[in-house]
Amino acid sequence: MANDPNVFEYAPAPESRSIVDIKPSYGLFIDGEFVDGHGSAFKSINPATEETLAEIAEADDADVDKAVKAARKAFRTWSRMPGKERSKYLYRIARIIQERSRELAVLESIDNGKPIKESRDVDVPVVAAHFFYYAGWADKLEYAGLGPNPQPLGVAAQVIPWNFPLLMLAWKVAPALACGNTVVLKPAETTPLTALLFAEICQQADLPPGVVNIVTGAGATGQAVVSHPDVDKVAFTGSTDVGKAIARAIAGTDKKATLELGGKAANIVFDDAALDQAVEGIVSGIFFNQGHVCCAGSRLLLQESVADEVMAKLKRRMGTLRVGDPLDKNTDIGAINSAEQLARIRALAEIGEDEGAERWSPPCELPSAGFWFPPTVFTGVSQAHRIARDEIFGPVLSVLTFRTPSEAVEKANNTPYGLSAGVWTEKGSRILHMADQLRAGVVWANTFNKFDPASPFGGYKESGYGREGGRQGLSAYLKADTKAGA
Ligand code: NAD
Ligand code: MN
Repeated sequence: MANDPNVFEYAPAPESRSIVDIKPSYGLFIDGEFVDGHGSAFKSINPATEETLAEIAEADDADVDKAVKAARKAFRTWSRMPGKERSKYLYRIARIIQERSRELAVLESIDNGKPIKESRDVDVPVVAAHFFYYAGWADKLEYAGLGPNPQPLGVAAQVIPWNFPLLMLAWKVAPALACGNTVVLKPAETTPLTALLFAEICQQADLPPGVVNIVTGAGATGQAVVSHPDVDKVAFTGSTDVGKAIARAIAGTDKKATLELGGKAANIVFDDAALDQAVEGIVSGIFFNQGHVCCAGSRLLLQESVADEVMAKLKRRMGTLRVGDPLDKNTDIGAINSAEQLARIRALAEIGEDEGAERWSPPCELPSAGFWFPPTVFTGVSQAHRIARDEIFGPVLSVLTFRTPSEAVEKANNTPYGLSAGVWTEKGSRILHMADQLRAGVVWANTFNKFDPASPFGGYKESGYGREGGRQGLSAYLKADTKAGA
């Protein structure tokens, strides 16, 4: 797509979509079966073409109640099943995900707009890895550090966003099931299809009915799920505003909650860093998944002495990014997930210009149908600018500079969020110092946006509370065994 004469063109290399069988309509997955919903059905579209993919049932309050009842009933047997038996189901699910990985990747790219190389090489492998990882914990919960006999919480209400539809499902479902909980999960309204394919995988794995229930719908359905009185645990990933509303809705109940909310991460480049490597990390930090990433490196902090050099290299690299068909294997940046999200990105980028920052994008042709935004960088950004403070959740980078490590720390921490950060330097001592000073749940050193099921993930401040992943992720789904004094 780039017009730079030094950038050669590739022939189209589309992945075939024939591996996926998208049905014209989908019901709700309750008690092991697909059933009709009683709300008003809605459509999921392909954001790269705006074509309708399928009609999706909407769960009303009565449907949600049915799902919670099914989960409650299943909890009696699932929670008492020996951990090694639960782990067999999780291993089976993980292996089916691997077997059907191409189908899942293509469907994810069609429904979400993300490039196939990401759904194929990142999302789906990390999803399988999560199920494998927590399958391994299911019979070892007494070693989780929560006492000799920690117990599951009960029914978990799980509400997830559209940016990593299947991955967020895996982060929620795998630890919950490993610990002996049952779940009612609501996928995002623009990306329900891989969750519904996952429901089929649960059937294929002979998972007992009611252990996993999937109810589709928008905010009202999500609200019904988290506020249902017979739910013991709420796990939410999404916007900070909705996270706050959920925290208010469950205050005064004894529901346990984990909230994974927004972010405005600083990606900090020191003058001693390997700059070419840093540029790759800056690019993957903000342009991975169209920047629809809560932990995206959306604020680039450059040490003043190398700022010009890094910007020159970064602009050159941005000129090689290929925007377009998510199913093309050469595509780096796919479609923006929805018209609403595109409008939000455009509005914030305009505010960036109005407030005096300098906007730059490489020349790049965008397809005519669908939702697209070119990779964009703003320089001359001050800390007071909206584009330095608000989560844009798109392929837009704001660049600030600093002179000393303490100025970098001060600027990096000057945000209501605290989800992630990146540090680029060749000095190990500086990495340790920065990791200690940065108020962020994850600090990447000389890399960015790396995800591993063994590593906990979560935020400080308005980025939420609780941790997902790793041994820490188990405590969100277990009651400590207090009798043993643990
Ligand atoms: P959102 O918070 O509105 O939606 C996330 C999920 O919550 C969806 O499944 C939605 O249907 C559901 N939901 C909406 N209102 C609800 C309510 N009152 N009670 C229960 N569930 C409810 O987020 P969005 O509209 O998809 O995106 C808006 C912004 O959120 C983005 O621009 C971005 O800033 C942020 N976001 C963050 C993440 C993240 O991973 N941290 C992911 C997606 C979006
Ligand atoms: Mn869709």
